[in-house]
Amino acid sequence: MSASNAKTCESSVLKVDFFRHNIDERDIARVCDVLRSKWLSTGPVTAEFEAALAKYVRSKYALGVMSCTAAIHLALEAIGIKAGDEVLTTPMTFVATAHAVLHCGATPRFVDVEDSGNINVDLVRKAISKKTKAILPVHLYGQMCDMKALRKVAKGIPIIEDAAHALESERDGVRVGQLGEAACFSFYPTKSITCGEGGALTTSNRKLFEVVRLLRLHGMDKSAADRYTKRYQHWDVVVDGWKYNMADPQAALLLGQLERAEEIRKKRERAALRYREAFEKAGIEMPALVPNAKHAWHLFTIHVPPKRRDEILHGLQDRGVGVAVNFRAIHLLTFFRKRFGFRAGDFPNAERIGASTISLPLYARLTDEEIEYVIQNVIALVRP
Ligand SMILES: *Cc1c(COP(=O)(O)O)cnc(C)c1O
Repeated sequence: MSASNAKTCESSVLKVDFFRHNIDERDIARVCDVLRSKWLSTGPVTAEFEAALAKYVRSKYALGVMSCTAAIHLALEAIGIKAGDEVLTTPMTFVATAHAVLHCGATPRFVDVEDSGNINVDLVRKAISKKTKAILPVHLYGQMCDMKALRKVAKGIPIIEDAAHALESERDGVRVGQLGEAACFSFYPTKSITCGEGGALTTSNRKLFEVVRLLRLHGMDKSAADRYTKRYQHWDVVVDGWKYNMADPQAALLLGQLERAEEIRKKRERAALRYREAFEKAGIEMPALVPNAKHAWHLFTIHVPPKRRDEILHGLQDRGVGVAVNFRAIHLLTFFRKRFGFRAGDFPNAERIGASTISLPLYARLTDEEIEYVIQNVIALVRP
């Protein structure tokens, strides 16, 4: 940090972290219980978490894995995505979404977004071709895509939902994952519940559930729990799978957070609504809210003039306010440009959001004083 930077930081009144998690002492005690037991891999606590998650999102099955990236990859493999296939997805997301498609040897075909940042269903309809073998929408920032419209447009094409931001989300009475073949969740540290690194897949399709259960652990037909807790049984490998299974200490850390997820979401909502009220009054732009929906409020973003975005971003940091950018449109990142020849102008709405967006602190442990401090500094920098 430069001397002048250090000075501005010192003079700031508060330091507001970009994110603080919600792990409490009871969660930690639950992990310690597992560590004192004999079972450290996928076992009874993972099964308990999976049952609780399936119930929470109103789907039949859930499977714990190592990341949301792994969940998306397995879901796509399970529905048969392979080299030569195309998967329609959004450029306004974290790279994991598109990488999971590449992990299958398939090609991500981007479709531009609407003002909420979610994939534009009309453009999806126009982009569907014979090669389209799946649609992979992202429920950006915690607002669900229009799943009823997307389901209609998709006809029989499977939809895998990237629900990394949307554990608590609902729209038009539809819970996340209910109209797709599967939904994929992330338990990365900044997500609404976390175990450090982790993820899960939910589905109500028994076949898909069984295939993903095989694929998450080398395609073995018996789990470690089957092999070691009963009389020894030989196992067979029926397909080549991956090593993506969740372990019991991770599941133990998640169980209590999942029980409190709605209570934690309400606290984020309170902060988010206060932000929106203040920024609307100050004429600061924000993503459009979708109708008839329960917002998970995973991220809170504002839009500022692209030419001033980085100056405002750094100005907030200098004043002690944690910030992030979610996301710069991924088709313009070096790898995607080189591999697929994308250029500026290909997906204008995603590019406009990517060039103007700033994410502000949003979590249950934000105090009123911190919320007001963020508001005051954002307004001072955006509307000097
Ligand atoms: C965080 C995130 C992911 C990846 O989650 P991991 O658990 O880190 O693999 C995927 N998609 C979106 C939209 C995300 O924000």
